Amino acid sequence: MQVISDLAGFKAIRSTIDPTIRIGFVPTMGALHEGHASLVERSRADNEITIVSIFVNPTQFGPHEDFHKYPRKLDEDALLLEKLGVDYIFAPQVSDIYPNRQSTGNIAITIPGLTGILEGKSRPGHFEGVLLVVSILFNIVRPHRAYFGIKDYQQCLLIQHLVKDLHFPLEIIPCPILRAPDGLALSSRNAYLSEGERRTALSLSQTLSDIKVMAATQPDVAHLEDYAINKLNRSSGLRLDYFEIVDGNKLQHISYLHEAEKVVALVAAYVGKTRLIDNIMLKG
Ligand code: AMP
Repeated sequence: MQVISDLAGFKAIRSTIDPTIRIGFVPTMGALHEGHASLVERSRADNEITIVSIFVNPTQFGPHEDFHKYPRKLDEDALLLEKLGVDYIFAPQVSDIYPNRQSTGNIAITIPGLTGILEGKSRPGHFEGVLLVVSILFNIVRPHRAYFGIKDYQQCLLIQHLVKDLHFPLEIIPCPILRAPDGLALSSRNAYLSEGERRTALSLSQTLSDIKVMAATQPDVAHLEDYAINKLNRSSGLRLDYFEIVDGNKLQHISYLHEAEKVVALVAAYVGKTRLIDNIMLKG
C-alpha cells in the first residue's frame, strides 16, 4: 500500500495504471471505523485496485461546525487500510484540492429541490461542498466505481444525481449502514460522545426500528412521525433537529406509505454538542 499526500505524486501514479484495470474508490474524511471498512471490502471484492481518499473537506463544513476539531488519525487509518488490502491512500492537502480558494472562491453545485432540504436546510452549503469535492476527487482519481454509505442517505442520492446528470463515467455503489451491536450507526463523530451521551444516542436507532415495526401495520405517515418525534423529544439530553418520512427517491413529503415505491425515515439530532444522523428504509 502506498500513502500519497501530494496531488502531483498521485497523478503520476494514476497515469501509470493500465486502463483495463478496474479501480474502486472510497472517499472518506478519515477517523475510519468498521462502516468505512465495509465499503473498502466491497470495493476490494469488485475491483482489482482500491483507492481510499482521506480528506477533511473544508467546504462542506459551516462556519460554526467541527472542521477544526474533526478527528484526524492518518497513521491509525493507514494501518487499518493496509490490513484491508487497500492499494493506495490519497490524502491530499487543502491547497491541492482548492488552489484558488482564496482568490476566486469555489464553484457551487446545487441540485434544485434536493440540496436545500433536510440536511441541506440544517447545514446551508453542506451539500454544495460535498458535491464539489466529490467532483474534484472523481476527476483526479478517475475510478470505475465509487462506494458510498447510505448512512448518509441524502448525500448518496445527490451523488447518484450528480454522476448521472454530469455524465461522470463511473458507477456509484450504495452500501448498507454498519451499526454497533447495540444498534448505534457507526460514525467518526461517535468519538465525541461521553458514555452517557452514547446511551442517549441509542434512542435514534431505537426510534427508527420502532417505526419500521409500526410501518408494517400503520401506513399513516403523520401518525408514525408523531410517535417518533414525541419519543425523541422525551429523550433527555437529545435535541431533535428533524425526523421526516419521505419518498426515498425524491425526498418529498408523503402522507401515506403507499404513495411512494421507496420510503425512508431520516433523523438528525444533537446529543450534547454532537450532531448525529441516521435513517431506515421503510419500503423498497
Ligand atoms: P465520512 O468519512 O464520514 O465522510 O464517510 C465516508 C463514507 O463512509 C461515506 O460514504 C459514508 O456514508 C460512509 N459511512 C460512514 N458511516 C458509515 C456506516 N456506519 N456504515 C456504512 N457506511 C458508512
